[in-house]
Amino acid sequence: MNMHAPNFLDTARWGGLAYISDWQETLGGKLDVTDPANGNRLATVGLCGPADIAEAAKRARAAQKEWAKTLPAQRAAILNRAADILEQNGAELANWIMQESGSIHPKAMIEIEHGALFIRHAATLATQPTGMFLPGMDDRTNYARRVPHGVVGVISPFNFPLVLSVRSIAAAIALGNTVVHKPDPRTPISGGIIIARIFEEAGLPKGVLHVVPGGADAGEALCSDPNIAMVSFTGSARGGSKVGEICGRHLKRVQLELGGKNALVILDDADLDVAASNAAWGTFLHQGQICMATGLILVDEKIEAAITERLVAKALHLPAGDPSTQQVALGPIISDSQVETIQKIVDDAVAKGARLLAGGTHDGRFYAATVLSGVKPDMLAFEEEIFGPVACIVSFKTDEEAVDLANRSEYGLAAGVISGDLGRAMGLGDQLNVGQLHINDQTINGGPYAPFGGRGKSGNGTRVGGPADIEEFTQWQWVSVKKAATPYPF
Ligand code: NAD
Repeated sequence: MNMHAPNFLDTARWGGLAYISDWQETLGGKLDVTDPANGNRLATVGLCGPADIAEAAKRARAAQKEWAKTLPAQRAAILNRAADILEQNGAELANWIMQESGSIHPKAMIEIEHGALFIRHAATLATQPTGMFLPGMDDRTNYARRVPHGVVGVISPFNFPLVLSVRSIAAAIALGNTVVHKPDPRTPISGGIIIARIFEEAGLPKGVLHVVPGGADAGEALCSDPNIAMVSFTGSARGGSKVGEICGRHLKRVQLELGGKNALVILDDADLDVAASNAAWGTFLHQGQICMATGLILVDEKIEAAITERLVAKALHLPAGDPSTQQVALGPIISDSQVETIQKIVDDAVAKGARLLAGGTHDGRFYAATVLSGVKPDMLAFEEEIFGPVACIVSFKTDEEAVDLANRSEYGLAAGVISGDLGRAMGLGDQLNVGQLHINDQTINGGPYAPFGGRGKSGNGTRVGGPADIEEFTQWQWVSVKKAATPYPF
């Protein structure tokens, strides 16, 4: 096996096709994949419609029982091989991620590194204990064991396409499920083809993983398919609400990992340079297109001017452009309609009295790093997840007011608190209504070992990663064993 091929993602193998047990033509037609920075066509993949989803789900179900019987060590070995292959071909694959999702190189490399870590973490799940003996009520033996759901449908977004797909796929497979995975139609290569290729090379048996690029119609077909037992969805609250509705109608388990409007609270005793750097990283990384991006910068009014000045200086020095051809800090926004959404939110803030101190403009899809101060609760910039490089500065007078402002959001994904006084930061953090709390850090943090997810509109209380994976991707089965059957009164 050539794990490190010079052209690992050779389009001759998968161009125009989807991975339904193997590379094959689809009934849904073809999908051109373009670079959001310049509109260039990168490749074509097979577009999957409901009929393709149904076929993939049928095959996944047929393969599941055998896969679940595979020895845990064998499952772990395949996963670890897939992680090796991802890392060994990282330089080539990062280029695809950069071009397809508008990522700067360091962000693309984070996807490779974290993608491999998630797969290696999943490998360890395969060899965990699977159950417990239960207290008895008679002389029979009772035990409870975790068993796979069957087929897991995975639906993922465009922004961190590789990591947000593989984190669910790898855990589900490790625990004996088979998977039908629908990446976002804007990022089917980074979010799908790469994953199919690494598992193909790693020797995953045919039928265990299917990658079916498609749109919302394909996603909805996956949610209602009778052969799919669980759906793991990462995306917007709007999409998640629809997915939850369909899965509810079909009595399917559903995991919803949705958006966020994440507050970074900077207290008056914070180091100003460090705090401003945290605010800039949390706001501008990947053009703000991250669920955990810092959506509100809550600053004590005593240091507001000093933090704002530093943040504006940073914003004015962050170039935006095509990351494949230039040394830039910000790549393109994923689509023209998303650029319009960002502009609408910025314009609304300015019209309602916010001060535009940097940016606020765009050159095509390249939106300038933007700083708004004086952001208030009646503005869209305060309420909505922007998914663009816009720093929204809100000042507060007391720590209590900071808590109140942070907790106004309907979302509850992540928060950060920065202070020179650890006890004060932790005390404030304890009051925040979020799934991820980062003391003395900004809001963008992730990795395979933490149970990741949010409260409120950020999800349905499920988590992905770390100790949550076994809980999410398996279910209990109670087994009782009598030495021999005994008679009943009738
Ligand atoms: P989106 O909901 O529009 O799309 C995400 C995925 O869902 C895509 O694959 C899309 O094709 C599919 N989809 C959309 N509508 C669907 C439907 N009705 N039925 C089934 N599938 C459907 O999300 P987006 O705007 O492209 O992605 C960004 C959003 O994702 C942001 O809100 C962001 O915060 C969120 N996100 C959350 C996390 C997390 O882990 N909590 C991580 C990354 C992104």
